[in-house]
Amino acid sequence: MEKYDIIIIGGGMGGMTAANACAKRGLKTLVLEQNHHTGGNMSGFRRKGFYFDGGDQSFESLGIVFPILDELGLLDKLRWHKARFRMVSPDFDFRVDSFQEVEEALQTAFPGEKGIPVLFREVREVSRFIESKMDPWSFPLLHNFSISGLASMLPWLPKLRRWLSFDYRVKACSVIRDPGLQKWFTQIGYYHMPFIFFAGFWHLWMKDYWYPEGGMQAFHDLLAENFTQLGGDLRCNTRVEKIEHQGSRARSVRTEKGEVFYGDSFIYAGDYKRLVGSILGPEVFKPSFVKKIEGAKLTESLVNVYLGVSAGTEELDERLGAQHVFYFPNYDVIFPSSESPEDVHGRMWLTLNHFGKENPNAAAPGQSSLVLQTFSSYDWRDCWGIGQAAGPRPEAYSRLKERVAAELTGLAENLVPGLGSRVLYTDVGTPISSERFSLNTGGSSGGWCYDGRESPVYRFPFLNLFSTPLRNLRACGHYSLWPGGVITAALSGKIVANLSSGRKPLKKL
Ligand SMILES: Cc1cc2nc3c(=O)[nH]c(=O)nc-3n(C[C@H](O)[C@H](O)[C@H](O)COP(=O)(O)OP(=O)(O)OC[C@H]3O[C@@H](n4cnc5c(N)ncnc54)[C@H](O)[C@@H]3O)c2cc1C
Repeated sequence: MEKYDIIIIGGGMGGMTAANACAKRGLKTLVLEQNHHTGGNMSGFRRKGFYFDGGDQSFESLGIVFPILDELGLLDKLRWHKARFRMVSPDFDFRVDSFQEVEEALQTAFPGEKGIPVLFREVREVSRFIESKMDPWSFPLLHNFSISGLASMLPWLPKLRRWLSFDYRVKACSVIRDPGLQKWFTQIGYYHMPFIFFAGFWHLWMKDYWYPEGGMQAFHDLLAENFTQLGGDLRCNTRVEKIEHQGSRARSVRTEKGEVFYGDSFIYAGDYKRLVGSILGPEVFKPSFVKKIEGAKLTESLVNVYLGVSAGTEELDERLGAQHVFYFPNYDVIFPSSESPEDVHGRMWLTLNHFGKENPNAAAPGQSSLVLQTFSSYDWRDCWGIGQAAGPRPEAYSRLKERVAAELTGLAENLVPGLGSRVLYTDVGTPISSERFSLNTGGSSGGWCYDGRESPVYRFPFLNLFSTPLRNLRACGHYSLWPGGVITAALSGKIVANLSSGRKPLKKL
């Protein structure tokens, strides 16, 4: 029977970062991934001649992702394109290229609003902080640790304490007098995002959002190919049902088809609620911890409408004016839930995502792929008409998908007039589909909810869940390290790979 040095469960960003790091060190490494390809929330797919990025459409580096890819020798193997953002509402229409442009556009839209420069003074300060400590290519504290680097953080600590809370965001945004604009600034983004995330997003949209040439799946295919070239063993279509243990050590994993794989060390890179609820089992954890994990709220899931359209890249680029366009039909910020009415998605914000020149093979000449996204909820309309029933999807599910596709396409027509009549292909990815493809509970997009009160799961002082009650089982991925998302998945993959091979957590790979 084959025995591995390391077995990694889950081939998303976290699992594949860890896998490449382990294989690079010569460890006999196995990755088990339930989907037919790696990538998780970052994966893409091709249908009827169109390529679509399935979930995450581009991502930030924050001095974490690029340096890690560089350590793995992969950064230069793809071309990275800086993504541009545009914001449109009935009152404003601007590109998020500089603070000056953003503030001027908002001030023109709301001429009497004296709070805009006041709020943005502090947003700019967050931007200066991020830029000085973690530009896309370097985050010295993580990659070239020094005492003087650490000391340079000290003056920022009092501000960081404030910026890290949602309550402070409410206070900072209260300088805005227009009720709609105030609500928008206070609530937009993930639920109860702290001030530093709200302000940080403006910075990231301007300076640090990236798209790999050829698409997100091309990036993950590169990670997978490099791993296998280093001697790693990647098994897709293989879902792990159980991590088996003897005393305080994990011994093997059992797949849903009944295969058993033995290893010395294990890294779990999938959904944390499932780890506790069934894969390891609640009996292995303290009851209070199980309760915390069960009750913890997750980041929102999204609904994705994938459109293949009969408009060439140049035409769509000209219409959209940026790769990511946020359209706000109003300033209401709605987080859909089980209670939301049937027309909820048609009244929400929308992003239109299109990478044409950066992904020339995404569609045939004269055609393009366009992804529309907004927040949704797994529970909406009795789980999108499915209820609790297992088996084939009922007719109600298709009907709701068609409805939402039509509503979001209708909203997108405010940016691309006549879009509906030029659609050649439509597919809809619901939170139910996201859960099926990634196994993230409820189709959660980025890990635990960013409001620490709703997800009090991290263990202080380093805000992570790397270790488990089993000595040779560690967790990585967007649940394992505060705050979630791609940066967390990559960094946790690096740290846990190092720990599993007996090295210091931040040692160069
Ligand atoms: C629409 C959308 C937009 C996003 N935008 C951003 C953004 O702008 N910036 C950002 O930082 N992040 C963003 N994210 C979040 C980001 O994509 C994720 O946080 C990140 O990709 C998570 O990586 P991961 O490896 O932790 O988990 P996942 O991507 O969920 O990967 C886990 C993998 O493990 C596999 N798996 C799970 N359980 C098992 C099992 N039992 N057996 C075998 N395989 C298993 C799954 O199939 C999956 O492939 C976005 C996500 C979505 C959906």
